Amino acid sequence: MNDAKQIDEALLKSAFQELGSAQRVLVISHIRPDGDAVGSLIGLGLSLQENGKEVQMVLSDGLPGIFRHLPGSDQVKKKASGNFDMTLLVDCSDRSRAGDALIEIPIPDVNFDHHPTNTDFGRYNLIDETAVSTSEILGRYLPEFGYPISKQIADALLFGMITDTLGFRTHNMTAHAMKTAAKLMEAGGDLPGLYQRGLLNRSYAAARYWGAGLSNLERDGRIIWATLTLKDRSSASYPGRDDADLINFLSTIDAIDVVILFIEQEREQVKVSWRATPAYDVSQVAVNFGGGGHKAAAGASVEGDLEKVRANVINTTKMMLGIV
Ligand code: 5GP
Ligand code: MN
Repeated sequence: MNDAKQIDEALLKSAFQELGSAQRVLVISHIRPDGDAVGSLIGLGLSLQENGKEVQMVLSDGLPGIFRHLPGSDQVKKKASGNFDMTLLVDCSDRSRAGDALIEIPIPDVNFDHHPTNTDFGRYNLIDETAVSTSEILGRYLPEFGYPISKQIADALLFGMITDTLGFRTHNMTAHAMKTAAKLMEAGGDLPGLYQRGLLNRSYAAARYWGAGLSNLERDGRIIWATLTLKDRSSASYPGRDDADLINFLSTIDAIDVVILFIEQEREQVKVSWRATPAYDVSQVAVNFGGGGHKAAAGASVEGDLEKVRANVINTTKMMLGIV
């Protein structure tokens, strides 16, 4: 990966210099938030607070209940109020990922991210696609620029690293990610507890929701796909709009190159998730459908009737990846 996006040191220094003189700071992460969205949001937000700044942390979808165990999560709001000296985005690869949070902000100041598909929509674009998670980027640079890493900040950032790497086992894992994780543990990060809550614990409703998805699993050669409908969600009484991590289970199935999961949302809208083995790049397929992500894990929100979206996505994926 010679042309991998990495953070420009001069840009990084200027961004932190400006942040040094900011007092009121807004921190935002993405819709349908995952562990890295929440971990990097809270980790950065608390660190700025402990540095003496006034901080608001915003997720336009609100904080999913499964993340309430993280200290500081009670501060996360759906909407900001007041004025800010700076707006910082974490883990958002394009503007639309922020949902309604950027409505009154034409250009956010800092865009911290690790997605290769990031559209560089901020004033300072600090993108490192070799980082396993946005929380890894923050875990590395916050202390370097004098920001504190207390136990609660270490927990938030380590949680983001653990969840985005499925417990340090994704193909993008690096030695520098392990070193950052070790430093977060030294700062008090509770690796086993966070691992348990982020990757192992699941609700009865989530298990029933999985059951619905698993019962319609289909295969064509080395591609498999499954669907979670709105009806499945309500029959299982599953409270979230996400897939309850079913995609990560599907990716453990043998002799498969690509996994696709369709999650029906409101109003003719289907969330599509792709996972691939290292030989394939699904991020460009997701970009083709208006989404983004990484080579091995990507997603998009696609408008339209579930049946039609499914047929179109499966065909386009096969075509773009040259799978027959
Ligand atoms: P997941 O399939 O677990 O939702 O997401 C996999 C990866 O794709 C994550 O890195 C996530 O940020 C990205 N991703 C998921 N959905 C979208 C989307 O609608 N738009 C963009 N740009 N990225 C997405
Ligand atoms: Mn991430």
